[in-house]
Amino acid sequence: MENKKHTVALIAHDNKKSEIVEWAKVNYDILKEHNLCGTGTTACLISEATGLKVHGFLSGPLGGDQQIGAHIAEGKIDTVVFFWDPLQAQPHDPDVKALLRIAVVYDVPIATNKATADYVLKSALF
Ligand code: PGA
Repeated sequence: MENKKHTVALIAHDNKKSEIVEWAKVNYDILKEHNLCGTGTTACLISEATGLKVHGFLSGPLGGDQQIGAHIAEGKIDTVVFFWDPLQAQPHDPDVKALLRIAVVYDVPIATNKATADYVLKSALF
């Protein structure tokens, strides 16, 4: 198991926010060992619910996804957990697509549902 501190970005659309907060609570002991950041509202909710320090970028619809994408391009983010909502149109859909795309371009693991996020967090590579 590697001991390197990772930088993990946490993002959830509105209908998925309670799910990511629950996931962060369950995985508190792992997450506390890493640097955490996230889109504004998601970061704030996780911080409040868990006490974890989560650096907040702008809210997603106001550019937060793009900020996280830029950090991925600069090699500053190692892992993304992004619980996007497949059942509701998002006003910032182009930003969402751009974030998914840039993560793939830079081969950064991006977990888009809880099952995948669990696998990533428990991976020996994490
Ligand atoms: P939020 O952004 O955490 O600021 O709500 C998430 C998103 O919708 O991209």
